Amino acid sequence: MRIGIYGGTFDPPHLGHSSAAKAAAEALELDRLLLVPAKVPPHKRLSENSASPEQRLEMTRILADGLLPQGRAQADGLELAREGMSYTSDTLREMKARYPDDELWLLMGTDMFMTLQDWHEPEVILSLAGVAAFRRSGEDSPQAMEAQAARLREDFGARVRLVELPRIREVSSTQVRQALAKGEAPEVPLPVYGYILRDQLYGTNADLKRLTDDELRACSLSMVYAKRHAHILGVEKTAVELAERWGADPELARRAGILHDCTKYLNLEEQLQICRKYGIVLDDLERESAKLLHSKTGAALARYVYGQPEEVYWAIFWHTTGKADMSLLEKIVYLADYMEPNRDFDGVDKLRKLCYTDLDAALALGLDMSIADLTERGVPIHKNTQGARDWLTRHGKG
Ligand code: ATP
Repeated sequence: MRIGIYGGTFDPPHLGHSSAAKAAAEALELDRLLLVPAKVPPHKRLSENSASPEQRLEMTRILADGLLPQGRAQADGLELAREGMSYTSDTLREMKARYPDDELWLLMGTDMFMTLQDWHEPEVILSLAGVAAFRRSGEDSPQAMEAQAARLREDFGARVRLVELPRIREVSSTQVRQALAKGEAPEVPLPVYGYILRDQLYGTNADLKRLTDDELRACSLSMVYAKRHAHILGVEKTAVELAERWGADPELARRAGILHDCTKYLNLEEQLQICRKYGIVLDDLERESAKLLHSKTGAALARYVYGQPEEVYWAIFWHTTGKADMSLLEKIVYLADYMEPNRDFDGVDKLRKLCYTDLDAALALGLDMSIADLTERGVPIHKNTQGARDWLTRHGKG
């Protein structure tokens, strides 16, 4: 296996890191890329309003998630477990012990590459890993990089690859922190921005109850794995369209769509804790199913953390099971979740069409499909789902 190791302060990780990492992973044909935040960086002093090592690791995890196909990029917290300076030579010793038969490559930008001979134990570093270096700025001289590569090869017998990035993104964490403190749009991936807002890092001090749609979206995406992002954006878009079609408030539909799955990946105990905190009463089936709980806990965070109104709360609350006598917004979010553009199952096209011509008939069909699917998979049907279906029959709506 060929493993890339990309160390940094990642305070915060930004789009320069992600685009360089992606391009280098491709050029080197890496099987795996590990992004390693330093606990105590030897090469720079942490800024005064720096994030904690744990927060930098979490932001790096968010940036790594979905960066390469098949989850090949991951954040690695091994330096956080070590006391003292986070020396790369120690990290590579640990990596070599972990991956004795694999080929290690250290990834770095020009600033780091040009001073590599002055790092702690450069001979250890260069004996344990190859070095892949790329330019950070259009002003970095390729000739100087070539000369440095030649010197490292000669002095240390180093393996060096100079990687040409298809696009150089001239951004630094320092610039990102400055932009954030001034309230300007930062050059970080959206979910990283969401994490920064949620933890009020770098002087952002956002009031989470008064976020713009863009900020709210960033927060929601920061709470779930990248594989769920397309679905959340799909539900948002579809809920807005359905609200416009049926005369519900599109802004409320948007906010419910954005937040509906924000607690999707909390485990059962975390879900139960939120329910206890906000006094959500559960039945036996719900107490045992994180899948059923995420709609309740998502609703709770929407209301109590993100300041959303009642209508949004209930639309999220009922989006998994449905219930008898649903409000217009509840129906819209339930159906948007079911048939947004990323959903692909037999009958989804028919359901999509019906959503725009007869909402109650679409709801009845969606419930029927859901009940049939659960039955086939041997999953117990929640009484509110059956209740929703029976209510429509009783009222001649499906
Ligand atoms: P700061 O502004 O706080 O000094 P930084 O932007 O340099 O931070 P680091 O986390 O210290 O970020 O950088 C980690 C690694 O990423 C280094 O090898 C660095 O050269 C590289 N790097 C940083 N920014 C870029 C960029 N825009 N393009 C390519 N590589 C980059």
